[in-house]
Amino acid sequence: MLPPASSSVAVASLLVVDDNIVQRIQVVALCRELGIDMIYEAGSGAEALELLSLLVLPPDVAIVDLEMPGMDGIELIERLHERKLAIPLIVVSGREAVLIDTVETMARNLGIPVMAGIRKPLRRESLAAALEGWDRERAGPATAAADRAALPPIDPGELAAAIASGEIAVHYQPKVDMARGDVCGVEALARWTHPRLGPIGPDRFIQVAEEQGLIHALTMAVLRQAFGDAARWRAGGLHLSLAVNLSPRLLDDPSIVRELSQLLEEHGLDARRVVLEITENSLVDCMGVALGVLARLRLKGFRLSIDDYGTGFSSMQQLARIPFTELKIDRAFVHGAAQRTNLRVILQSALDMSRQLGLVTVAEGIETLPDWQLVRDSGCGIGQGFLVAKAMPVDELPRWIEAHEARLRELGTSE
Ligand code: C2E
Ligand code: MG
Ligand code: MG
Repeated sequence: MLPPASSSVAVASLLVVDDNIVQRIQVVALCRELGIDMIYEAGSGAEALELLSLLVLPPDVAIVDLEMPGMDGIELIERLHERKLAIPLIVVSGREAVLIDTVETMARNLGIPVMAGIRKPLRRESLAAALEGWDRERAGPATAAADRAALPPIDPGELAAAIASGEIAVHYQPKVDMARGDVCGVEALARWTHPRLGPIGPDRFIQVAEEQGLIHALTMAVLRQAFGDAARWRAGGLHLSLAVNLSPRLLDDPSIVRELSQLLEEHGLDARRVVLEITENSLVDCMGVALGVLARLRLKGFRLSIDDYGTGFSSMQQLARIPFTELKIDRAFVHGAAQRTNLRVILQSALDMSRQLGLVTVAEGIETLPDWQLVRDSGCGIGQGFLVAKAMPVDELPRWIEAHEARLRELGTSE
């Protein structure tokens, strides 16, 4: 008879792949304690694949040991990918944490969800914590990517019409001072609500705008709204810095400097309160005209930020060559950094370098309290992420800020 489950998880079936029989029995016992009914076992990668080929329904989760004779855990993950079996995984190993991190990243890049990477011995608490995230993982990135691929392509004509008719709205995501917790600025993010297709994210339409020669019109539409909103906030006594994303394609034409300055003047704003975020990826071929444009924007007082830092190929030379004032660390190095050594090391070295260059540092994609604490304790100045708030429509922002400040006062973290 099974021992009674002292707490149970939503997972109904699970596969344990481990060549060590003693450890496998221990894991199976832990899973039973957690109330999982259907537990399959395999002593090697090959055995696991054979078993999976016989099952009508794949298990909800697989716990995979990395080191096994014959087909190891890494090869098993590759084979699962080949067979399009995106079973959520828990990767376990007695080896160093960085190695487990690497395999986790590899699996995710292959579209296989990873619920956790755990160093052996596997304990009840860490297994329970990993299994609790199962529902979320099931609906997670692999599904989202598949959903995106299934979406209809963007019609450039419709996008052009949407820009002209004001269908592109600007939402604002708060940026907070990590030490004090108060809101110091917002990032303007474009949002398109298509009359038939509903909301379409910028990840889908910015690239189309760039390729179809619509990015200038789109950016001006975003800037006009954002500068107008910032002017109204200022008039109402709300002083926020405003970050806007600037496509590198716009840096090829020197007239952008004049257009930006004119727009700023029309709204009576101060360039020093405006941060222009430029993605790091695009900086690789940032030469000649673009460098001149960036230098002149800086002369006018605009702040310049390297967006998504760490995902592109910026060399130290580029960092030194372009007059940036801010480094914005990509969420790939922030999300999960509290648990993963290699991310933490990269994050810390980016922060150290930024400090030495005298730049403001922003960490994006902070979703959990441990990541928030890590980023704060590592000396990052500004944070942004779903833990604080998602991007919101303009009319929600003042109310959100008020509530946020009230919360801070209650917690006694702000003067
Ligand atoms: P970005 O500039 O790096 O903006 C941050 C993105 O990360 C936003 O996605 C934001 O909603 C998302 N984000 C913020 N916090 C979190 C978090 O904690 N977790 C996760 N998973 N995501 C978080 P969004 O709004 O979908 O924008 C995607 C990208 O589209 C932006 O990335 C930016 O590169 C581009 N973009 C957006 N608006 C514009 C625009 O007006 N002009 C240009 N050129 N690009 C834009
Ligand atoms: Mg940005
Ligand atoms: Mg970014």
